Amino acid sequence: PTGQRDESADEQLRRERIFASAQERYYERPMQIERGWRHHLVDTTGRSYIDMVNNVAGLGHGHPGVADAVNRQIRILNTNSRFLYRELAEYSERLLAKLPAGSGLDTVLLVNSGSEAVDLALRLAQAATGRKTVVALREAYHGWTMASDAVTTSAYDNPYALENRPDWIYVADVPNRFRGTYRGEGTGPAYAADLGNDLAMLAAEGREVAGFICESVLGNAGGVLLPDGYLSDVYARVRAAGGLCIADEVQVGFGRMGSSFWGFEQSGVVPDIVTIAKPMGNGFPIGGVVTSKRVADALASQGQFFSSAGGNPLSCRVGIAVLDAMEQEGLQENARVVGARLAAGFRALAEKHSIVGPVHGEGLYLGVELVRDRATMEPASAEAAAICERLRELGVIVLTTSERSNVLKVKPPLCLTAQSADFVVAQLDRVLSTGW
Ligand code: PMP
Repeated sequence: PTGQRDESADEQLRRERIFASAQERYYERPMQIERGWRHHLVDTTGRSYIDMVNNVAGLGHGHPGVADAVNRQIRILNTNSRFLYRELAEYSERLLAKLPAGSGLDTVLLVNSGSEAVDLALRLAQAATGRKTVVALREAYHGWTMASDAVTTSAYDNPYALENRPDWIYVADVPNRFRGTYRGEGTGPAYAADLGNDLAMLAAEGREVAGFICESVLGNAGGVLLPDGYLSDVYARVRAAGGLCIADEVQVGFGRMGSSFWGFEQSGVVPDIVTIAKPMGNGFPIGGVVTSKRVADALASQGQFFSSAGGNPLSCRVGIAVLDAMEQEGLQENARVVGARLAAGFRALAEKHSIVGPVHGEGLYLGVELVRDRATMEPASAEAAAICERLRELGVIVLTTSERSNVLKVKPPLCLTAQSADFVVAQLDRVLSTGW
């Protein structure tokens, strides 16, 4: 403790005066964060926390490589992307090199956020197919712009859209093998067959599919892995129906899964369109779409594509610095190793505490699902919220996710250490053992 005054109450009042009530923030009485370093956050009273939720700062907070890149580039040149400058091509090539070789994903469009990337991906699918209908999965979050919000099917995030969704969206069942329509291993084909029936029904109604969008790992549900065989089966059905497959990698992509750079690689598929954002800029606003030249060129039928700040020299330099750091610091490998340790720790807690249900995910995208009854999967939502409050007192920032707010979302910066992972598991054990 530094003896500094706790300014969080003043700051909260200040925010409430000037912000919309719909603007979400964490915690009932939030701390005021003043500084971040690697996977730690420090508040104005000098308390430090392990940050287990910040998937935007993939490299960690306060990364010197990113800071130097910003500082240097902003003094040299920052202009809009209609000029010719080296950084744009250099970054785009670096990004493309991260896509699977021979995938045909050879064209990049840069924007400023995940919502914009999803919006653009939907427009591309519609432009390239000349159709309108988009199939999205239930319980998904894809952004807040008009189009990305339209495919945001989560009742928690978007209750408004449940009744007001535009008619070009079709919402299909979510293949959650832990609590969905079909449960257990081997349910991928059943979910995929249902989606095939949906596509046939849409075609019969004259609503042929332009695109299918989903997260390659169900991020909003807390990192729930898709059932084996689901995505490859669904992609084949969508393509046979003449549609394009969009992988939303905004949360799960970019090395977080550890064993693969992209979430879709877990399912052995190659999408037609990939959306990326959050960790691309380590907090600096960068988003992007990667697709084939054929699909990208179809946008010409809708006029020009232009983003004032998307792909400017500054954001490209930041993007390059992020990729450099990821490679030099071995962060994908760290996500694999530390993530496996963390998941093993959480699974061991499930043996001691009946409230701990399935531990989802892989790498440093995990979800600890809390249930009142493992057979009925009754969500322990109030308990989850109270556990997060208590963990905060113990120096761990972890929050809930999913439609039922009963999953502890675990998506820390990829530089998380084994020591901190063990600390987090120990604190959760302490809360579960002593009450919350
Ligand atoms: N897609 C997914 C899967 C996301 O998780 C998010 C953000 N939570 C978005 C899109 C939207 O990204 P942004 O907040 O950068 O607009």
